[in-house]
Amino acid sequence: MGQDVINRKNIKEIQDRQPQAAPLSAGDAKALEAELRASVRGEVRFDDGSRALYATDASNYRQAPIGVVIPRDIDDVIATIAAARRYAAPVLPRGGGTSLAGQCCNTAVVIDFTKYLNTILSIDPDNRRARVQPGVILDSLRDAAERYHLTFAPDPSTHNRCSIGGMIGNNSCGVHSVMAGKTDDNVEELEILTYDGLRLRVGATGEEELQRIIAEGGRRAEIYRRLRDLRDRYADLIRQRFPDIPRCVSGYNLIHLLPEKGFNIARALVGSEGTCVTVLEATLRLVPSPPARALLVLGYPDVYTAGDHVMDVVEHGPIGLEGMDEFLVRAMRKKGLHEAYLAVLPQGEGWLLAEFGGTKRSRRRNSAPVRRWRR
Ligand SMILES: Cc1cc2nc3c(=O)[nH]c(=O)nc-3n(C[C@H](O)[C@H](O)[C@H](O)COP(=O)(O)OP(=O)(O)OC[C@H]3O[C@@H](n4cnc5c(N)ncnc54)[C@H](O)[C@@H]3O)c2cc1C
Repeated sequence: MGQDVINRKNIKEIQDRQPQAAPLSAGDAKALEAELRASVRGEVRFDDGSRALYATDASNYRQAPIGVVIPRDIDDVIATIAAARRYAAPVLPRGGGTSLAGQCCNTAVVIDFTKYLNTILSIDPDNRRARVQPGVILDSLRDAAERYHLTFAPDPSTHNRCSIGGMIGNNSCGVHSVMAGKTDDNVEELEILTYDGLRLRVGATGEEELQRIIAEGGRRAEIYRRLRDLRDRYADLIRQRFPDIPRCVSGYNLIHLLPEKGFNIARALVGSEGTCVTVLEATLRLVPSPPARALLVLGYPDVYTAGDHVMDVVEHGPIGLEGMDEFLVRAMRKKGLHEAYLAVLPQGEGWLLAEFGGTKRSRRRNSAPVRRWRR
């Protein structure tokens, strides 16, 4: 077995090489709190109530944080991470906290970006770009972009609560990702802060620029050099064996470091769940938002048959696609929710909801139910 392969046999050895963070003592937590109060303009909350509030996300996990910081500005984020570093305390950036797998639970200093760092810095309709702070809620960005008939395509079901920072952390997708990709496909640049306090802007990097950055020396050069070495060492393995899954999350998006992907450090960081860097600002790709839209709802005998027909629908270029099963409908019926909508669902126990978009709506309408499914 070569060193290149990480498997069950050598994972322990690899883990042992990582620095192990010891839990912070009560005294250190108090000292850290005092230091944060002295250096941060925003809110520093180490009381039990706040720690309980931030102990969980949308998952079943629960870990009371060391404390919570709600930064007013980027300087506060820098000061928070500097203080945490002095006490070797883990940090955990947080957006809407809608993660389903415990990404926002940890015995760490939680940094909540949504209260103050939620400004859309600019929208450039000509180049279809938006610059945003990480605490911007997705729907605020979509509303602002819609004024220019543009949109940010990935849209989790939590779109009126989830933040751009959290979407970057989770490489979020959603109904309209069939139109223009997941979050990693739509991130152009990130301004990031490392735990050791380096602030830098990352994105696609050509070979010449890469050589220039490395030649400059210093911490930034060291990071770029080590990422380049990682790429060179593993490129063939990544090409051959990197899992061919549509959404890379809970593992590093190494594919974006390949030369054919532009050595894009910003995109490689998407999906890293706050474990590598803290995102301070994002430059995002916007795409045209079709002004006329129509929804086609297809009913199937069960959700599996619905799944079998996804590619038939995809062939017709929907801008959105969602699947739904009887379980959800039964639960809504039981609770008396959305009864009027449920009444117009076509017959079946599994559904595909396909949205189509265009520049204008055709006058022809046909809402008659058609029954035809292939098994
Ligand atoms: C009912 C429900 C439906 C959902 N549907 C979908 C769906 O359709 N598609 C989908 O993709 N997801 C879905 N999700 C999961 C979740 O809502 C999304 O992934 C969402 O984008 C997370 O955003 P958030 O702001 O809540 O992130 P959070 O949960 O706050 O954070 C997510 C991750 O990002 C990191 N992070 C946050 N801010 C920063 C920052 N500034 N710098 C670095 N890292 C940061 C956090 O540390 C964490 O690891 C769903 C969740 C629920 C509860």
